[in-house]
Parts: sequence; structure tokens; C-alpha cells
Amino acid sequence: MRDISNGVKMQDMIENELLSLVDIDGFSEKYSKDISADKFFGFPLKHIISCEKKLKSSQIPSLAYLSMEYGLGSSIYNVFTPSESLNPVNKISENEVFSNYRLADYLFTLKINEIMDLPIYSGGLGVLAGDTIKTVADMHISSVAVGMLWSMGYFRQRFWFKYGQLPEKMQWDPYSYPGLIPLKNIIKITLNDDEIYLKLWKYYVFSHKKDFVVPLVLLDSNIPQNKESFRQLTGQLYRSDDIYIKILQRVILGMGGIIALKELGCNINIFHLNEGHAAFAFIEKLRAQDYKGVEELKKHFVYTCHTPVKAGHDRFLITDLEKFFNKKDMSLLKEYGVEEKDMVNLTFLAMNLASRKNAVSARHGEVMRVQFADYKDEIKSITNGVHLYTWMSKPVFSLLDKYRNNIGDFHNDVSLLSNVSALKRNDDFRQGIWQAHQENKAKLCGMLDKWELKENVFTLCWARRIAAYKRPILLLMDAERLVNIAKKIGPIQVIFAGKAHPNDNLGFTHVNELMDRVDALSKECDFLKVVMLENYDIYLARILTSSVDVWLNNPLPPFEASGTSGMKAIMNAVLQLSTLDGWVVEAKDAQIGKIFGSQGKLDSINREEDLRLEEDSSLLYDALEEMAKLYYLTNNKDKVDFSSYWIDMMVNCISESARFSTHRMIKEYQKDMWGIG
Ligand SMILES: *Cc1c(COP(=O)(O)O)cnc(C)c1O
Repeated sequence: MRDISNGVKMQDMIENELLSLVDIDGFSEKYSKDISADKFFGFPLKHIISCEKKLKSSQIPSLAYLSMEYGLGSSIYNVFTPSESLNPVNKISENEVFSNYRLADYLFTLKINEIMDLPIYSGGLGVLAGDTIKTVADMHISSVAVGMLWSMGYFRQRFWFKYGQLPEKMQWDPYSYPGLIPLKNIIKITLNDDEIYLKLWKYYVFSHKKDFVVPLVLLDSNIPQNKESFRQLTGQLYRSDDIYIKILQRVILGMGGIIALKELGCNINIFHLNEGHAAFAFIEKLRAQDYKGVEELKKHFVYTCHTPVKAGHDRFLITDLEKFFNKKDMSLLKEYGVEEKDMVNLTFLAMNLASRKNAVSARHGEVMRVQFADYKDEIKSITNGVHLYTWMSKPVFSLLDKYRNNIGDFHNDVSLLSNVSALKRNDDFRQGIWQAHQENKAKLCGMLDKWELKENVFTLCWARRIAAYKRPILLLMDAERLVNIAKKIGPIQVIFAGKAHPNDNLGFTHVNELMDRVDALSKECDFLKVVMLENYDIYLARILTSSVDVWLNNPLPPFEASGTSGMKAIMNAVLQLSTLDGWVVEAKDAQIGKIFGSQGKLDSINREEDLRLEEDSSLLYDALEEMAKLYYLTNNKDKVDFSSYWIDMMVNCISESARFSTHRMIKEYQKDMWGIG
């Protein structure tokens, strides 16, 4: 194909073709070094052209996915290679650690020195959105994703000695972030007395084989066309208490998203609302067709609900909405979105206007059918999953590759991982899985070597968003008991990580309380080492979910709609210690660890409930003690008993992860929700 003498011409041709499809702002000044005839920041460029063409074609049915946040793990997966060295503001260089080994905290920081993830997510919802579009790319489904360019990210968590967390503004530079490109396109949203202008950006999400892309279109209000207050609308994710800002952010995602897709010439069959945040998309679509054809429009919308927690749903006073929406918009909002007489609830709007809707686990489906009894026959359950190529660690991948004859081509069909169960009695495989795990654990211990983490010490981790119902404090409720277990059975290492939403006082209190309890353990660090890591993100999540011995998940049932971090862990043969909630309900008989704690009642979901910290922590210690015992029977003074039931459970974890991949999840979305692909 590539003829040297024609190189320049070819470059021109491809450039012209690309630029006719994607109007890059500042191409020749800024991006021509990274975007050449065949390469886009080191990745093959031709797939961008063919996928862009598919999106514009009226022959091929395409999907648009709308989400407030995306966690792409751009630091660990399909990392773009720019021609120039990284702009330091787009890097994470170091984090602090707070532990009960105080000297190390004082003397050292955790050196990271990696590109930061594209800072447009806060937690599990965003990671799911990221895993979803990567998988859609792997499966070659013509799609485009729409999100927001958060110019100040979510926030950077700073530990404030032992007093809690300080939320710092995140500094980053979109113009030099590898793979992120600004477009010349500017769109306009028209409201009663206001106009919002949005600049469009693109970030191409490649399939793992790098043979297909899903463009992620990001909306940015930080441009001079907007009045000053509007420039901040796409500033910080979920950070505003101001009701008008909240409304306008949802207007940007929903209405701006629809306008952007039209501006870019995308021909969309199905609009997928990931959460109710984007529900104003209906308004824009109906405006464009003079408020006619609601029934027909419904067929093109699908909606995924991600939380049974009432506070997680957006509710706005009609009088507040009237400030921005015209009479016809308002009559739609009143007809389809009213919860009580003066309130519009975006969840109701999405439930009423999307023809297909789903919960994110079987358990969550049951909860939703109680919460939305009118729709109980229509609510489907599609359990979340995780993206194999993002979350399975290299050592585990290599091990499974060696057994591909037994397992089958799990690269292309993740469900084949269930065949791993047939290797349970294979001694070499059992040794291999232990070694792969120890290799991962060595990486963790290496990262934390100044804290003297040891590879042969029983290690567990609690890491996720810090929210009350997730009960971060449960493991440290009775620290004395934990110390006693460590003294009796063998030393224990615990890792905590997670950001608390800065506007959530309770969340702040939890961080503070955790630190207090860790601080009180400073004399015990020979037996029980507790380490809190700052600024939890996908980079750390990938290390933690693959390297500890036990993944702790203790939400108060039934408040966890699905949860996904445990799925990442089982994909890496990491055992679960979990309450019975979310996805775990579906895996409860798979022998992938221990389940403990009280079971939630479906009808308790709408009531204020106490967190049952006393009862459940006591049950947690019982379960933990048994797990520690079995661990030290298995890994006994550096001698490993490869016949141990512990290793049976590690094998079960991988074979069970066959059911919790995004590849399985997307197939269900294709069949039950989208009808395309
Ligand atoms: C997977 C992930 C989560 C979700 O964790 P849950 O235990 O499912 O709540 C949150 N944050 C990050 C960075 C993740 O990678």
C-alpha cells in the first residue's frame, strides 16, 4: 500500500479525508506530528476513518451512549504514545500514604509517575461506562459515546494528616492530553433567556485489537462565547450544590448531546441513557420534531438505572425548571416526569419515555420492581460486567494463555473462562495460579516496600467510593478483635482507598474516622498493618484488585445495585469476603470466598435504615478469622499446600468471572435493549 515516493501525497490524502470527517481545531499547529497518514498517536488511523463513515451512514444502525462520566483507565489500557513527552500537569507523580506505620508515612510518598486517567469520572458508574464503550469497540458495534469535558476533573484527594481528606482542584490540560483532540465545531443550546455554547472534543476509544474505534464526544462550556458563570458549567463533576448549575449540567449532557450528534452528522438508531442524568435528551429530540411523535421516539430510547438509593436520583422543582425551559418543554416534563406535584424526577422521565429499561443486577431488578411497581413487567435485569483487557492482570492472562487448548479462545469469547473449572484438579495449573497471584502481590509489595508490606502475609483490601451504605468503617469497628485475630492466626495487612464526595459531610466523617482508627493502631503494626492510599483511581484499582488475597465488599443490602470491583478481583483469582448484595447474589453458590452479614429486605429500601455496624462487623470478624486460618494453612511459612481448598476457590473465581464480563453484558444489551449490532 504505502509507496515511499508517494508518501507525501498519501499523507495529504489521508489528512484530507480525516479532516473532512473530523474538523480538528489547530491541526497543523498542534496535532500534525501525532496524526499522520497511518498513525493516530501511535495507533492505526484508518479505523477512525471507517468508523466515522459508518456513524454517518444511514445504512448501518448506530448506537449513541450518553453518560455523565467515563473512566477509561487511559493510564493502563491502550495508552496513546504522543510524539512529545508528557505535559507534567497531565501526570500523577506521587501520592501520600496514611498508615499505622507512621515513620514510613513521614519519610516517604508513593511514587506513581504515570499519565493521569482522563479525569472525567468519579467512581464505579464511570468505570462501567468506560468498560462498556471499550467492549462495544471490541465487538465492532457502530457507536458513539457522549460525555462532558470536566476541565477541573472530579477532585484530587489530599490527606490532611490524620484529620480527613482535603479536596483539591484538579489541574490538567486537555490540549496536551494524548489522544484528546479539540474540534472546530461549536454548538448552541437555546433556553428561555439564555444560550449555552459548547465546544466539541473527541477521544477515540480503540478496541483491544486496535481494529475498531468508538469516538467519545466531549462537551465543553469553557469558551469565551459563554458568559463567565456558564464557562464553569463543565468545571467539576458532581461538585455543585447550586440547583441551577445542576440543571444546566444535565441540560448540557442531554440536550447538548443530541445537538452535538446532529452537528457531527451521526445517524443514530438507539440512544442509551446511562443513568437519568441525560434524560433532557428527550426534550431536544421533541423540539426538533415540533413536539410530535412521542410514541415513535420512545422506541429509540433505552435507559439503565444504576442505583436504588433515592438520593441518587435527580429531582428538580418545577419552578426552577421553568427558568430555563419553555412552555412546551414544561408541559412535556410535567406529563412524563412528575414525581410529586411540584417536582420533576429525571428517573421518572427516563422510565416514562424510554421504551426499554433495565436494572444492573438480578437483585437490583427485584428492588426496582418494588420501587417502580407500575413498570414491574418491563424492567429487565442486565448484570454489570468488567472489561477483560482492562482488568485481567498480565500474569493471569499469560497463565490462561498457556492453557488455551483446554479453555478455548477466551480472548474472543470471555464466557469460555468457565472452562477453567475443568483445570481444578490439574496440579500444574494450581501452582501456576498461585504463582501468578504471588507475582501480582509482589508488585503491590514492591510499590509499598517502604511500608514493609510482605508477600507471605494475609492481605485484604477495601477500596471504592466512600459512601455511608458501603460501610468503609466496618472492618475497624472493633479493632481489638482484629488485632487478636492477627495475633492468634497470623499477621494481617489491610489496604484502604477511596474518595469521599466533598459535599457529603458523612463521607468526610468516614475518612476522618478511618484515620482515627488507623492512628490508634500504631503500636500494633507488627501484627496488623493498615495502609490508606490517597487518591484512589483506576490505576490503583487495577493493582489492588489483582494483588491482594481477599477483596472486601461490605455494603448494607440491598443498597448496592451491582458493584463491579469484586468482579475485577475474581478475574484475577482474588477471593471475596462479601455481604450478600448486588452481583454477589448471583455468585453466592460459586465458592469464591465467604459471604456474611444480614440480608436486606426489599421493602426496607425506601426507609432510613441504621447501618447495622455492630452486628455485621461481628459476623465479618468470624468470617475473616476462618479465611485467615485457611490462608495460613495454605501458605505456611513459605511452604504452599497446593491441594488446599483456598486454591480451589481461586480457580472458582476465574471460572465464575466468565459470567461477569462486559462482553456477556453487551450481548444482553444487544439482544434485550438495543436490537442492533
Ligand atoms: C471498579 C471501580 C469502582 C467501583 O467499585 P465498587 O466496589 O463496585 O463500588 C470505583 N472506583 C474505581 C476507581 C474503580 O476502578
